[in-house]
Amino acid sequence: MNLKTLLSNVPDTWMDNYRQLKSAPKLKKFTAFVSDNIPYFRLIFTVEGMTDKYITELAIPIKPAAIKSVKKVFELDKVRVYCSCPAFKYYVAYALKTKGSLHDHKKDLGIAYTTPAKVRNPGNVPYVCKHLVKVADLLTKQTVLKLISQ
Ligand SMILES: [Zn+2]
Repeated sequence: MNLKTLLSNVPDTWMDNYRQLKSAPKLKKFTAFVSDNIPYFRLIFTVEGMTDKYITELAIPIKPAAIKSVKKVFELDKVRVYCSCPAFKYYVAYALKTKGSLHDHKKDLGIAYTTPAKVRNPGNVPYVCKHLVKVADLLTKQTVLKLISQ
């Protein structure tokens, strides 16, 4: 799945929560890895929530056109995401996993890794938490290439 689709699935109430987040995500670290023969950049951010700080991750396939464009990065297929917040864990982690869009954190996710969120996300719809919306917002302002070059 691409970021555009994951963002378009975000419920309105979550978008309202996202708008209350004031500080910009901070890129803490970036690494590269290969999965299914696809090279990825793994961007690890800290995002300040209302009460806590979370580790928010975005893994994107390394495609020159996409990492140099604020538009194309949103259309890039096979992106993977993760956030350490409870909403991510209990609403969307499993749905993302079933679509191949979860950046694996099996241990941190515990039961949420193997159990569908039947009550909180009955349609098993893949979407992202407000912290990942905040990271996506950052990517509308600067390219991935620029971000990792700083
Ligand atoms: Zn989150």
